Amino acid sequence: MSSPLQTFQGGCHCGALGFSFATALAVSAWRVRACSCQFCRAHGALTTSDPSGRLAFHPEPGEPLQRYRFGLKTADFLVCGRCGVYVGAQIATAQGAFGIINTLALRPLPTRLPAAVDADYGAESTSERIARRAQRWTPLAELV
Ligand SMILES: [Zn+2]
Repeated sequence: MSSPLQTFQGGCHCGALGFSFATALAVSAWRVRACSCQFCRAHGALTTSDPSGRLAFHPEPGEPLQRYRFGLKTADFLVCGRCGVYVGAQIATAQGAFGIINTLALRPLPTRLPAAVDADYGAESTSERIARRAQRWTPLAELV
């Protein structure tokens, strides 16, 4: 019997780019990752996802949204075009759309976020990267 989903809200600083992350996992069971790529390091991002959860990004209509692609260019890293906060990323795959959130953009910030595990995906091929994200990232309601 699975636990009910609990929804966590988050977003950028100015409010132009929000998200809803629904998961049955207790916060203490989240897998929080500190990716070692230059982008994530520069933002100090600590990301998480739940393959059994649900994720939706909510950009305010008419507000600028940056979809930044780099490296293998398989995913959009979503950065508010007004305040510059990195809130998460999305990818389109043959299995559907998936995403991750930057846990530090959650509001309120959960009090007991697990310690982040260092992650280095630099050696992946394009197909390995897409396959990992389709397996580990959170199913996304729709691409933004
Ligand atoms: Zn913003």
